[in-house]
Amino acid sequence: MINEQTVEKPKPLKRGMLDNVLEQFNHAADVINLNPNVRKILSITNTEIIINFPVRMDNGDVEIFTGYRVQHNNALGPYKGGLRYHPTVDIDAARALAMWMTWKTSLAGLPYGGAKGGIQIDPSKYSKNELERITRRFTYALGENIGPEHDIPAPDVNTNAQTMAWIADTYMSTKSTSERSKNQHVVTGKPTGSGGLEGRDRATGYGVFLTIKFWAEKNNISLAGKKYIVQGFGNVGYWASHFLEIEGAKLVGVQDAFGSVQNKEGISTEDLFNYSISNNGSILGFPEAEPFDSKEFFSIDCDICIPAALGNQITKHNAHTVKATLIAEGANGPTDVEGEKILMERGITIIPDILCNSGGVIGSYFEWLQNRNGELWQMDEILEKLEKKLRTSFEKVVNYTEENKTDMRTAAFSIAIERIEKAYILRGIFP
Ligand code: NAD
Repeated sequence: MINEQTVEKPKPLKRGMLDNVLEQFNHAADVINLNPNVRKILSITNTEIIINFPVRMDNGDVEIFTGYRVQHNNALGPYKGGLRYHPTVDIDAARALAMWMTWKTSLAGLPYGGAKGGIQIDPSKYSKNELERITRRFTYALGENIGPEHDIPAPDVNTNAQTMAWIADTYMSTKSTSERSKNQHVVTGKPTGSGGLEGRDRATGYGVFLTIKFWAEKNNISLAGKKYIVQGFGNVGYWASHFLEIEGAKLVGVQDAFGSVQNKEGISTEDLFNYSISNNGSILGFPEAEPFDSKEFFSIDCDICIPAALGNQITKHNAHTVKATLIAEGANGPTDVEGEKILMERGITIIPDILCNSGGVIGSYFEWLQNRNGELWQMDEILEKLEKKLRTSFEKVVNYTEENKTDMRTAAFSIAIERIEKAYILRGIFP
């Protein structure tokens, strides 16, 4: 049994996503009166791995890369979380994102903990062959720090099914012949032809759409004709937009890493997607929309705003310009604490990231089970199971907000943290 004692709250190391997640955590911990010893444990990460590794480039030169894997907590099961390839990846970003994964998997009721990692790299500067060698060398260097029953990576910003296939192949190649096939679930988000789950590509975006749909149902609002904007037109942003459009909502603004476009009359998700594919991944120059100042993106007139790119995008500098009445956080940590305060004062509802984008990790869980049990699941049953699980989480969060007169983020964090607290209280601490 863990003894209770008063502890000083941990101080954030520097401003950024880590401050954000720690402030969110400490706020919920205060609300639920979290056991002080569990607070100590959850305030810090379990394991932090930083690896510098050499890779030969296409021109024969060797370049050194820095990769990270941070494992925050595994009280509920193996570590789970994505790998991001982006220049902003550093130890604090990995810590923050790993913590969010712990709360997300707990809230979703999955038997997982939280981890995150990636490589500090701008992948657009490297050829496909170089990216393959970088990925394989990083996987090899991680060695037994990942594993199908220990720590299971997945795609995130600038990584995809192909990246996961390289990781799975490299990891499995380090095993003896008879053990190889038992290790396929070392990563999720693989291509469907190589151990992947039907529908894992759309799981996160579909989940974002579903949480918006549940919210609309709850408030007797029809999504038909509602205007929405999407920041980040990658895996999450594209699929969320795809499903909202089918529901009759109208896409009026999009921002990606290259710039922003808007059209008050509506933008076709598929046309924009096909255009960006033919335009090196950029939406800029799309003929059926006008360019828009990226700094003012959140001020576009709309009902729903879906930040689905990076963290700390809605802050005290732009929260007062937001026109939407609903923010659905497709990205991890897109709203910082100061920005959130302004949004709440303005009566804007936020579906928090750990609920809103949890369709991805739920899909990953299904893939992991499929591989582990040697099964092949069909798309229809997968999307149905996903909807059922997300609806359960959504209703838990909404019921908590009503019973405790609080916002959805505090509710989601409280439910997630209480589940982990219970595990620690039941199990105690070795020795
Ligand atoms: P992605 O690489 O497929 O797409 C990222 C998109 O964001 C691209 O369109 C890119 O151009 C855009 N972008 C990058 N920098 C930007 C900037 N500064 N301003 C505006 N746009 C920018 O990544 P993704 O998988 O869609 O992930 C997006 C977000 O969703 C991330 O925060 C990620 O952690 C989160 N998320 C992803 C998953 C998943 O399953 N892929 C699951 C849960 C959460």
